[in-house]
Amino acid sequence: MKLINKHKDVEILITDKLFKRLSTYGINQFPNEFGGFLMGHYSNGFKTVTITDTILPKVYKGTPSVFHRSVKGIQKSFEEFYKKEPIQYYVGEWHTHPNASTQYSHSDLQAMISIAQCETVRITNPILLIISTSKSGINSFRFYLYENKKLLPFV
Ligand SMILES: [Zn+2]
Repeated sequence: MKLINKHKDVEILITDKLFKRLSTYGINQFPNEFGGFLMGHYSNGFKTVTITDTILPKVYKGTPSVFHRSVKGIQKSFEEFYKKEPIQYYVGEWHTHPNASTQYSHSDLQAMISIAQCETVRITNPILLIISTSKSGINSFRFYLYENKKLLPFV
């Protein structure tokens, strides 16, 4: 599947297979929020982001309206991923909104601001994917591109 940003000349590519995997992880945690890290690579002068995989957090808090992931204990997963996929990077975050809209919350935006300002994160435009889940499937989803303290939606 291919998504185009409304405000910026950037596109996202993700396979249906990987998207389904993320959805399944999220549905399995319903009615709590769940999520993880998005991994991928850039091409076309940073205008195309191909999402290729996810790394799931080991330490996190998921309630029906909160998702906080920690980076505790995941260094090894990242190192193994980079060893296997040397040209790939951390490209962003995903999490679910159980039976809620795909609109980002104030704390979602704050989290993305601190990620973009983090010195160990080398990307200035991380991606955020929000999947609205139900008990048996997904309701909808939306990708956002972070730029200058704003989250720009993809269509
Ligand atoms: Zn959220």
